[in-house]
Amino acid sequence: MALKVLIVGGGLSGLGAGYRLSKQGFEVTILEKEEYIGGMASSYLIDGIYVPKTYHHIMSGDKVTLSLIRELGLQPYLYWKRLKTGFLYGNNQYDFSSPVSILRFKPLSIIDRIKFALLVLKARTAKDWAFLDGVNIKDWVSENYGEGLYQNLIKHIVIDKFDEPPENISAAWLLSRFGHESKSISGKFGYLRDKGIQELIDRLSENIKRNGGTVKKQARVKRVSIEDEQVTGVVYGEDKRFEEGDAVISTVPTPIVIEIVPELPESYKQQLRHITYKACICMTIGLEEKISEYYWLNCIGSYPFVGLFEHRYLNIDATPEGIMYLVKYLDTTHTDWLRSNEEIMERYIFSLEESFPGVKSKILWYKVYREPFSTPVYSVNFGKFMPDLLSPIKNLYITGISRIYPKDRYMGTALASGFEAAEAMIKTC
Ligand SMILES: Cc1cc2nc3c(=O)[nH]c(=O)nc-3n(C[C@H](O)[C@H](O)[C@H](O)COP(=O)(O)OP(=O)(O)OC[C@H]3O[C@@H](n4cnc5c(N)ncnc54)[C@H](O)[C@@H]3O)c2cc1C
Repeated sequence: MALKVLIVGGGLSGLGAGYRLSKQGFEVTILEKEEYIGGMASSYLIDGIYVPKTYHHIMSGDKVTLSLIRELGLQPYLYWKRLKTGFLYGNNQYDFSSPVSILRFKPLSIIDRIKFALLVLKARTAKDWAFLDGVNIKDWVSENYGEGLYQNLIKHIVIDKFDEPPENISAAWLLSRFGHESKSISGKFGYLRDKGIQELIDRLSENIKRNGGTVKKQARVKRVSIEDEQVTGVVYGEDKRFEEGDAVISTVPTPIVIEIVPELPESYKQQLRHITYKACICMTIGLEEKISEYYWLNCIGSYPFVGLFEHRYLNIDATPEGIMYLVKYLDTTHTDWLRSNEEIMERYIFSLEESFPGVKSKILWYKVYREPFSTPVYSVNFGKFMPDLLSPIKNLYITGISRIYPKDRYMGTALASGFEAAEAMIKTC
């Protein structure tokens, strides 16, 4: 009889695991708390058009996602666009789309521009930067590339991403990110026609179902059920239904793992408690027209957001003419997190008006997406606390974006974490 595997979380990690396992004949049930699947990569459906809830592009170096796209027969949907990226730095816009524009980047001295190019080249030299786990970004960049590059660029990039001092963040993450993203410095970004990223999510789900699997929505897992130190199923939903299973794969953030598996040994819970997350607020506005000439602007200065994305440069099938994301990473204790959506909208648009006068009058609609666990904080020595795939409880696997370090979290690493769990299970059976 086929082994029954319960997967907690219907984001890309969970769908990736479910797809691989169901293909191999395992009986798979995915339990997703929301009424939609896809997690952070899911989309709104606005007037029949799929718009990702958070900006999403396929990076040219994301081999895992690209290979899955081929495997699922989605290659005809894939297209690439060369798009402008830059920095909004104290109300001025600077191009950062190509090596030549980086060499012209005024916020850095000529020497620091060259040093930045060398840093990016360095980042490409190794596949695995885990040996820098214990070194912080401030020390590593200042010592190797000088204070100027650190103070005028790297510091801001890190604070924007984690809302934490770079002294706390591991240089292993920075090098992995630049190594990977440097492939996008060519300005090439990928997307899928028609439904965009939702096409990938739906195709995964369809395949799981075709292979005999089940995808349950509005099925929040409240508890992993354990007897004799091994999993027996999960309790889920408001009415606390029980689903029996031989193994459980958790793809949810580690604070939720602690909540739903109280039987975990205290020492293991302590290890997981070292992993903290940042929330994100991502506001999407529909506009009568595009307002920026850039697809992606990193914002440095006194803005309430850290990034602006003019989605219509990427998504050629959407309407209206302009769709812009305004994103901010923060703690859930931050005053912005506590503000209402209307307050967020007013605060962000007020600030946006300074750089793009008249934007307010062009707004057709807005949406505010909030994710309390948008990224683990890849802090110094994160590698020491990263959970093993196999938890101390028999047949309970822990995966998802807490397990991809020193890589950054992107679609490919989420999928890879799910594949890894599936492959480990396939091997042991
Ligand atoms: C603002 C932003 C922009 C991004 N842009 C890009 C990009 O351009 N390109 C790119 O490649 N990647 C991008 N990413 C990263 C990418 O979206 C993530 O790496 C990926 O979606 C993570 O998938 P996941 O399944 O690990 O996590 P999630 O998507 O968080 O999925 C976890 C799922 O578990 C569910 N869940 C939680 N608790 C429970 C429970 N108790 N019971 C049942 N279900 C539960 C959640 O609802 C969720 O659906 C971006 C992310 C963000 C936040």
